[in-house]
Amino acid sequence: MADICRKKGRASDVALLRDLCPVMETQSLCEMGRVMARTVLSALDAFGSEIEQHFTKKVCPAGECRAYMTYHILPTKCVGCGACVDACEDEAILGKPRFIHVIDQKACTQCGRCVSACDEEAIIMAGADKPRAPPRPIPIRRR
Ligand code: SF4
Ligand code: SF4
Repeated sequence: MADICRKKGRASDVALLRDLCPVMETQSLCEMGRVMARTVLSALDAFGSEIEQHFTKKVCPAGECRAYMTYHILPTKCVGCGACVDACEDEAILGKPRFIHVIDQKACTQCGRCVSACDEEAIIMAGADKPRAPPRPIPIRRR
């Protein structure tokens, strides 16, 4: 389950959980083991499709697993001040003064430092639904 939450899950993990949990449920020596097995089986029954999407579509539909979240700069809010560039230790933010800044998703480590650096609240975290953003920095038109 932890692998699935960390973007390392595979279909075979679910099959393994389905094999192991019924055994755990009857063979665990303590109540904790039995409860854990029942909990995992219930989750697979109730949210099987959502869990599958973690490895089939590489998304967390509930927007809860941090590994699937990405950071984005909203073009409508960015004023091109550059504060986020200074805050990003991974050099993942592209831009120059008076340009709409853009986050390089390949370089971003999802640390979240840029969010608090932006006074315009232009940087957001997104799950399955990503906001529209230019692929590279573009000049800011007068608003
Ligand atoms: S700190 Fe905010 S407003 Fe300034 S460049 Fe970055 S995203 Fe744009
Ligand atoms: S989340 Fe962290 S690594 Fe990603 S752009 Fe913001 S400061 Fe840089």
